[in-house]
Amino acid sequence: MRIDILTVVPRLLEGPFADSIVQRGQDKGLVEIHVHNIRNWSKDTHQKVDDVPFGGNAGMVMTIQPIQDAIDSLRAERDYAEIIYLTPDGERLNQSLVNTLSIGGDLILLCGHYKGVDQRVRDHLITREVSIGDYVLSGGELAAAVLTDAIVRLLPGVIGDEQSALTDSFQDGLLAPPVYTRPAEYNGWTVPDILRSGDHAAIQKWQEKQAFERTQQRRPDLFGEDS
Ligand code: SAM
Repeated sequence: MRIDILTVVPRLLEGPFADSIVQRGQDKGLVEIHVHNIRNWSKDTHQKVDDVPFGGNAGMVMTIQPIQDAIDSLRAERDYAEIIYLTPDGERLNQSLVNTLSIGGDLILLCGHYKGVDQRVRDHLITREVSIGDYVLSGGELAAAVLTDAIVRLLPGVIGDEQSALTDSFQDGLLAPPVYTRPAEYNGWTVPDILRSGDHAAIQKWQEKQAFERTQQRRPDLFGEDS
């Protein structure tokens, strides 16, 4: 899989992909992540990528030309399954959407800045708009990093134990059960006996019950109930 990220502040994305699971995915050749500076496509002599808004409101708006040229040059090289604009008024990101995107094909992620991008970019160039939550970030880079991380960890072979990603929260509509490791007792705090019993069927039953109760308590909305 290949993910191309368009941004005006590429340095913001140097850290998130240079370590841990996402780096491992790249090292194994399972994902290619390319971060591009939109300014490189600006035809303005000062590489400007924004302008004042029509209507006289506060803030700057990202212009069409550099974004369209960036997208066109990437699309000339390959097909993309989706061209995604990260935006607070987009479709809310959840595990189901991450699952879909992880098997869909290559992606372009467009990060906005300032007041966002000219609406005509959204109307004519973007195929999907995604929000990572009901709050406003300064730019789309952290949102793009969140989306990329969530996708990459699902790609077959990226996580050593593939079962692990499939038993995380939300995959089956439930939150994950609690987890424990050694020592079995610390400060007098003990691990539930059942987890040390070696009875795999009983352990699985206990974990399912914990997952169900935790979901009911913390996220009843996942059962379609009011939270
Ligand atoms: N004027 C926009 C609004 O009120 O909806 C907010 C612009 S925000 C300051 C700048 C950029 O950050 C956006 O264009 C978007 O790319 C990104 N961004 C901010 N919050 C986001 C969120 N919750 N999810 C995804 N992207 C977000």
